[in-house]
Amino acid sequence: MYKAPRGTQDKLPSEQSYWAYVTHKAQGLCQLYGYQRLDTPTFEEAGLFQRSIGEGTDIVEKEMYTFKDHGGDLMTLRPEGTAPVCRAYIEHGMQNLPQPVRLYYLSPIFRYERPQAGRFRQHHQFGCEAIGDEDPSLDAEIIELAWRLCESLGLRGLTLQLNSIGCPECRPLYLQRLKQYYTNHSESLCQDCKARLVRNPLRLLDCKKPICKELAQEAPSITDHLCATCNTHFNDVQRLLATIEIPFTNNPFLVRGLDYYTRTVFELHPKEEGAQSALGGGGRYDLLIEELGGKPSPAIGFATGLERLILNLQRQDVAVPNIDQPSVFITYLDYQGKVEAVRIASSLRHAGIGANTPPGGRSLKAQLKQANARGASHAVIVGGEELERGNITIRDLTQGQQQEIPIDQVVQHLSNLQQGPTASIQNGVIW
Ligand code: AMP
Repeated sequence: MYKAPRGTQDKLPSEQSYWAYVTHKAQGLCQLYGYQRLDTPTFEEAGLFQRSIGEGTDIVEKEMYTFKDHGGDLMTLRPEGTAPVCRAYIEHGMQNLPQPVRLYYLSPIFRYERPQAGRFRQHHQFGCEAIGDEDPSLDAEIIELAWRLCESLGLRGLTLQLNSIGCPECRPLYLQRLKQYYTNHSESLCQDCKARLVRNPLRLLDCKKPICKELAQEAPSITDHLCATCNTHFNDVQRLLATIEIPFTNNPFLVRGLDYYTRTVFELHPKEEGAQSALGGGGRYDLLIEELGGKPSPAIGFATGLERLILNLQRQDVAVPNIDQPSVFITYLDYQGKVEAVRIASSLRHAGIGANTPPGGRSLKAQLKQANARGASHAVIVGGEELERGNITIRDLTQGQQQEIPIDQVVQHLSNLQQGPTASIQNGVIW
């Protein structure tokens, strides 16, 4: 028996309401904040990710799905969303548009990780990027957007951690001090961190092993080593966040798993903490576009994991609206009624009203039971003496009332009943 590959999941119909809810909210916010959708290919040249994410990172070292295609080119399934957006920004000359360019994506992401709760080998991210300006107001905007997404979904007890990891001006001196500190404690470090000490000392602060976490507490802090420009920028970001009442906690040890970040970095954490718990995160990457061959274009962005958001919605019992199901069920008593039921269902759908007919051979009682189970708002009953009179019966399934009306008025009658706002939402996402 074949099964979905380890670390991947089928998103079953019963879960689609959550997916529709989250993507609908995300897209609604993007409209409010002026972010436009960009879809990039599922795979890119491997070099794009090696160059941008950085050689010493877990993603590039051991998590990328890289393969040689039939033409001998090395390709990688998208392990994160920012580098492809930057590649597209450069390729399509978006630096010639008014800056910043605000973009968002909804994409599957592939990382060969050890699967566990909230950690998969294929997951999905919603991310936003504001490219072409270094103003701290953009940092505040991106962080606000990430925060409002979680808040508007109905998640409670979130925390936002904030840090600045400086720039090529101030970071080298800090890294020197950090390296010195850890070299003095190198015998206590875990195996991975011993290697990080040589290749990527900033990542030592991010290790989840208890002994390394303890050492990180006493490590020199980057915020004590920021140059004047980074310091002013960081102060401005904090002031703006306070102005728009986004609560944040400074975490001088917050670093991110990708090499391209500069200055602002942040993460959103849910109420229930755990090693795999970040709901989303992001930061500035002022040098990445240049690194990839574009004109200097400072930028900031964030990404959230949709599976993690949904997991937390379920843990917190947040009710989500149902995706639209056909709201009218056309039941029938005999063969003549069935033909009429198929015709009525067809004309209702033509008029934009969702309708189903049950399969044949069931009693009226069983058909009505099914209509209720499917959450239909109305049943149309076709057959018997009413049909001979040219009529059908419409039953309101929520109120339990029914009435007989001429068959040629069904569409008009149900159109009138179905007007007005509906609580349900449509899934408009094509992956
Ligand atoms: P990152 O690109 O690592 O900053 O991840 C951004 C967000 O994507 C994280 O905060 C998580 O919510 C989510 N995420 C990252 N990796 C995984 C994974 N392997 N499985 C599920 N969600 C993930």
